[in-house]
Amino acid sequence: MNKFCPNCGTENTTNSKFCPNCGQAMGEGVVNNTPVVNNGAKTNGLAVAGFVTGLSSLLINFMGLVGLIALILSAVGLTKTGPEKDKGRGMAVAGLILGIISVIYGLFQIIYYSSSWYF
Ligand SMILES: [Zn+2]
Repeated sequence: MNKFCPNCGTENTTNSKFCPNCGQAMGEGVVNNTPVVNNGAKTNGLAVAGFVTGLSSLLINFMGLVGLIALILSAVGLTKTGPEKDKGRGMAVAGLILGIISVIYGLFQIIYYSSSWYF
């Protein structure tokens, strides 16, 4: 039977009395088969920044530059979030999608403006 940390949700495979991830005491009462909701983890700052930048890029895009920043922030944020990592994976994914949309839109803006300069 696996034990999951009541604090951070990390699986304790070592049978030690303390969580290998956060040091939370693993008592008799915390034995169960399902991971506890990851309450101990913080929301990843890059995931939040990527999401906010992604939203902003829909308003102020600067020919895809803001979207590109959102894309990078979200991509890095995505690698730092997950079941046993920081919270905010949904935000990172949303920021990534918004960033991609904005970069594509920005490319169309560049094509539009550069073609209009020649007329
Ligand atoms: Zn823990």
